[in-house]
Formats: sequence, structure tokens, C-alpha cells
Amino acid sequence: MSVVFWFRKDLRLHDHPALNLALDSGEDVFLVATADQIGSTFESLSPLRQNSLRASWSSLKESLSGKLTILQKPTDLIGFAKDHGVSKVFASTAYDTNGRKEISAISKDLSSNNVELVLGPGNYAVEPGLVRKSDGTPYRVYTPYFNEWNRQPQVSPISCSELSGVQEAISSSFDAKLHLSSAVKAGEDFAVRTMERFLEQRVEDYSNNRNRADLGGTSHLSHALSHGEIHPRTILDRLPAGSSGAEVFRKEIAWREFYADVLWHNPETLNDYLEKRFSGMRYDNDEGRLQAWREGKTGYPMVDAGMRQLAETGWMHNRVRMIVASFLVKDLHFEWQLGASWFEENLTDFDPASNSHGWQWTAGCGTDASPYYRVFNPVLQGLKFDPDGHYVRKYIPELRHLEASKVHEPWNEDFGYQHGYPERLVDHATERVESLARLDELKAL
Ligand code: FAD
Repeated sequence: MSVVFWFRKDLRLHDHPALNLALDSGEDVFLVATADQIGSTFESLSPLRQNSLRASWSSLKESLSGKLTILQKPTDLIGFAKDHGVSKVFASTAYDTNGRKEISAISKDLSSNNVELVLGPGNYAVEPGLVRKSDGTPYRVYTPYFNEWNRQPQVSPISCSELSGVQEAISSSFDAKLHLSSAVKAGEDFAVRTMERFLEQRVEDYSNNRNRADLGGTSHLSHALSHGEIHPRTILDRLPAGSSGAEVFRKEIAWREFYADVLWHNPETLNDYLEKRFSGMRYDNDEGRLQAWREGKTGYPMVDAGMRQLAETGWMHNRVRMIVASFLVKDLHFEWQLGASWFEENLTDFDPASNSHGWQWTAGCGTDASPYYRVFNPVLQGLKFDPDGHYVRKYIPELRHLEASKVHEPWNEDFGYQHGYPERLVDHATERVESLARLDELKAL
């Protein structure tokens, strides 16, 4: 008999306990990844997301000397198992809503074909569901969650077991689609190099620079973490002791784990409100305005630069994610899910828990004490977090003629609009008041 290891969002070889379970089984091992997932087919993703996945698979395949088969959809595993005399399929545990559904559906299908699905640990330093209050209930506020998370024993990274049992892969019809249409850097080696560069050059100043959209002071490890090209504990293990930058960075890794925990306890919050009463709020649905937001044409430079960074690169700075999210929900009065699904389509680091709960936190209907009435002012945020206007000028050519911080308020300049930058879609001060009025309506219900 033989076994399969099924790669999902864990596209690496090292520090991979679930993969080691398969490699240590003593059987011949086939390595398989699947392209479609419940909730999104590969073809439905943006070209940037498709390319980033292709790059991750290609890199993994290369490091396995080609011994990786990519199947179109998870149910193709059933036929694969039958054709190759497979008795067990190993995989990492999934904690997100659709991942859990997928694993559970495949487990039933495999089982009715006498194939056992064996799950190993997933891609978190502390598995979701483990950190609880003393009364056993889950946390909904980050800081006490972090304090408890921090008390959990830190497990050291492990190396990859012997790959000698891995069998030559059988090519699938999907393999032809691995061809890259543009050069995207991804993969386990690239993730490790990205981490090393961050540790050498940026971690010390991380707490000072992480909010500055113009400085590139963050790690850019989110793609690697969401594709599972690196395990978070591999990163935590390398953080220098006694560094304030490293300590703040650790807390960001813990935000990822916190949101995974919240989604695990509240799987419906992938698309539904954590604070249910917010579904009763009065929302707008003007397709033209939504499209202007998506295209980076709202007339607010910091918002537009962020949306154009997303379209061009598949990534957006965290501070700017909060600014564009607040603008969609509180200036344009859309439900957060519309923004979250645009992010899902376009972010190459898309992570269901961080995305849904990043949106809900900003929209004021999620975890923590982020109140709805906190409305980000896109101009003040721009002046503070892109003080010299470099970020805005980089992504908005129509504003490159304006100097320094003047890019944040083109309406104050005589020639602010001479290169076709759009006028403001709405007046922020007016919409802030409107947003608070809608909150009052909700409270009165
Ligand atoms: P760094 O600052 O270097 O942080 C290191 C790692 O910590 C990140 O890679 C990430 O894994 C984690 N992290 C940092 N900040 C957060 C945070 N606020 N919440 C959760 N984890 C965090 N992150 C995603 O990985 N995928 C998403 O789909 C996603 N959607 C978001 C949507 C909104 C509306 C908001 C406000 C935030 C979202 N984030 C998401 C969180 C955050 O913006 C990104 O993780 C971060 O910008 C990635 O860049 P980095 O790796 O350089 O971050």
C-alpha cells in the first residue's frame, strides 16, 4: 500500500509535523496539492493570486525534484487514491471555516472508499481553540488572549523527515497550468530569505516604522505565512531576545493566531457579523461608488494609493488596509463583506481569519474594543503615515507633480487636478456625521 500527503496551505518541507507523519509511515508516499478550494476555484482568483499560487507550487515542486502532483479539485483525491492503492491520506488540520468544511467532506468521501484521512498539526504556533479563559470560554479581546498565548510552551521547529519514500509523481492535467506568466518570487527558500532579511535589516526599527506606508518597514512575510511556506514558530524561534522591535513583531504574529482562534470558535463570522446587531444597520449599495473604491478613484489620495497598490502588487500595507476599509464602511456606508470579498479576490496573502476579522475590527463590529465611532480620517492618516507623500506619488501618477505632503490634499492646490486625478466622491466630514447618525439609529432599535 501507499499513502498520500495532501498539501493545502502548508507548501513547505521543513518544520512540518503533518508531512513528517506521512514520511515516517514507512509506506511509499505520493505528494499531492489541490488547486480549487471550497468557496473559490483557482480560475476565479485574480491573475496576481493565480500567479502567486503557481509560484508557490512550482517552487515546492522544484525542491521535490518534480515529485508533486497538482490536482484540480480536492475530490480528485478519491480517484488518485484508487489508482495508486492508497490506504491513508495525511494532511494538516484546517481551522478556517471553508477549510474545515473541505476536510470534513473529503474525509467522508475517502472513508467510503476505505481510505483514512489522518490530520496532523496545522500552521499556528498555538493551535486555535487551545487558549481559553479560566472558565473555558474563548477570548474576544486581543490583549488577554495574547497574555495567555504568551504563556503557552514554545515548541522548537523540527526538521524534515527522510524523503526517500517519496514516489515519482504522476502528472495531472493541471500541471500544464503551472506555467508562470510573470516572475513572482515565492516558495520556502524565498520565505526563509525574506525572514533573514527582515531580521538583519528591519526588526530593530519595526515598532517605529511598521505604521509608515512609505518606509517598507514590515516583514512582507504574510504571503509566506498564508501559503504555509514558513511555520510561524520558525519565525518566533529566530526573534532576538531583548529587542523591542522583535517584541512588537511577536505581537503581530499573535494577532494572526488570535483571529484564527476567533474564527475557529465562530465559523459563521467568515461572512457574518461577530457583533450580530450590526447586520441591522442602514447600509448603502451604490455600484458606481463601490467600483470607484475598487479602482482607486475615490478622490482621497491615501485610499486610492492603497487600492492601486493592491491592484498592482497583490499586497497592501496594514495601516492602509485599515484606512481603505474604514473609508468603504464609514464614508461610503457599505457592508464590510463587500470589501472583504474584493480583498479575497486580490490579496496574494489572503487569509480568511485575518481578512474577515481585520475588516470587522476596522468596521467596529468585530473583536476588541475598536468602537464603531472611530472613523479614520483619510487625510490626517495620510499626513501622519506618509508624511512626505512618497507612497501616494508611487501609486498615483496623476499626483506626482505635487510636492511632499501636498499630495494628500490636491483640492488645496491650484494645479492639483491638472493630470486628471478624480474629485472627491464624498465629503469625509459629512459622511462621518452620517455614519454616526446610523449608529444612533441602530442603538435606538
Ligand atoms: P508584518 O507587519 O511584518 O507582520 C508580520 C505578520 O504578522 C504578518 O505577515 C501577518 O501574518 C501577521 N499580522 C500582522 N498584522 C496583522 C493583523 N493586523 N492581523 C492579523 N495578522 C497580522 N493579513 C493577512 O495575512 N491576510 C489577509 O487577508 C489580511 N487581510 C486584512 C484585511 C484588513 C481590512 C486588515 C486591516 C488587515 C488584514 N491583514 C491580513 C493583516 C495585515 O494587514 C497583514 O498581515 C500585513 O499587512 C502583512 O504584511 P507583513 O507581512 O509585512 O506584516
